[in-house]
Amino acid sequence: MPKPPDTEKKYFGKIDAQKRRRIADEKKTKEQLEELKRLRCLHWHKCPECGFDMEQAAFKGTSILNCHHCGGAFLNSETLDELCGGESRIVETFLNIFKFK
Ligand SMILES: [Zn+2]
Repeated sequence: MPKPPDTEKKYFGKIDAQKRRRIADEKKTKEQLEELKRLRCLHWHKCPECGFDMEQAAFKGTSILNCHHCGGAFLNSETLDELCGGESRIVETFLNIFKFK
């Protein structure tokens, strides 16, 4: 069998390398997604202060997460907005307190 020319060998070598890289990237992405999913399940509704389970609680017409162990509470920015009655300046000022500069 005749030996393929170097250019042909390089071409197919490059194609194979690209294919292997793509497969590795897909595998890596899949593993990263699985790790994110695992971490999300592990930390879902856990208190960031003490790590105990947080429970959904009604609060002034909205819903917040409440920790019965340490008394901590979590609310997202939309809920905070609702509690402030849409006063965006109040919410913005409040959130700016927690921004790191
Ligand atoms: Zn807690």
